[in-house]
Amino acid sequence: QAKQLGRKRFAVFDEALAKGMVDVLAMESELRKALRQNEFEPHFQPIYRLGDSKVMGYEALIRWNHPQRGLLRPSDFVKIAEDSGLIEAIDWRLFELSCRLLAQHGPGEPFITFNVSALHLRHADFDVRILKMLERSGLAPSRLVTEVTEGALLDNPESVRNVLDRLRSVGVGAALDDFGTGYSSLSYLHSLPLRMLKIDRAFVQELDKSGSGNSSTVVAAILALAHALNIQVIAEGIETQAQLDALVSMGCEMGQGYLLGSPAPMSHWVAS
Ligand code: C2E
Ligand code: MG
Ligand code: MG
Ligand code: MG
Repeated sequence: QAKQLGRKRFAVFDEALAKGMVDVLAMESELRKALRQNEFEPHFQPIYRLGDSKVMGYEALIRWNHPQRGLLRPSDFVKIAEDSGLIEAIDWRLFELSCRLLAQHGPGEPFITFNVSALHLRHADFDVRILKMLERSGLAPSRLVTEVTEGALLDNPESVRNVLDRLRSVGVGAALDDFGTGYSSLSYLHSLPLRMLKIDRAFVQELDKSGSGNSSTVVAAILALAHALNIQVIAEGIETQAQLDALVSMGCEMGQGYLLGSPAPMSHWVAS
């Protein structure tokens, strides 16, 4: 009886595994097709100066215009795109398109940020590729900021630092994304050539829950540390006026979030 049960459980597991593999393979071939047919597009979320609500820049966020399933978000496909290595080709297409759009439509010279995954940073010539891409798209290097996560640094912090150093020497900035959710946060802050740091929305969303919670202490400490190191701070995921007010009163210089503006195609932000 136990043996039978065991065998049955094994069979069920096997089937689920096989189904999962089929799904992944199907998704991979769909991703390849989407790349050929240009189904990926950047949406842009404005990054505001909190003092006066001026748009300082935009974060480019990938969307997949799927012919059957509609607009897909990164959580629906980026993991599989990364595992299959396709994310590199997809990202380069998206980066170039984003830079082109910004070069054409950028009154007041806003900057653009995009999310660079660990795979890109493994290439020692990442900075060279970025510069060629900027040249093709006509965007000034000083208007680009790459977003990296602490997780992407774990692999090989030394070589990532070299790549970011070379980018900085030609004017391209770097931002540490999702700050506070990763590993050895503090050690990276002084050793990396960072222009900006993005406070993860987990901290921001705690800000309006009860007056003097731990979260505002943490945010104040992050701001003090960043400013001492000459790093600008962007708060992520601002959803309420109370969160915004708290951030302004603590001296946070920039922010983004649904309260201020949700990600949308560039045509939504700039009339063409
Ligand atoms: P991220 O870089 O931390 O991006 C911020 C995410 O928070 C975005 O989700 C954005 O739409 C969402 N968001 C913005 N404001 C709010 C808010 O007020 N409340 C809440 N709850 N969420 C808000 P999205 O677009 O789904 O992107 C998720 C993640 O996917 C990004 O996190 C980034 O790590 C990755 N990603 C996005 N675009 C790309 C890309 O082009 N290439 C790569 N490799 N990864 C990307
Ligand atoms: Mg980001
Ligand atoms: Mg983030
Ligand atoms: Mg995130």
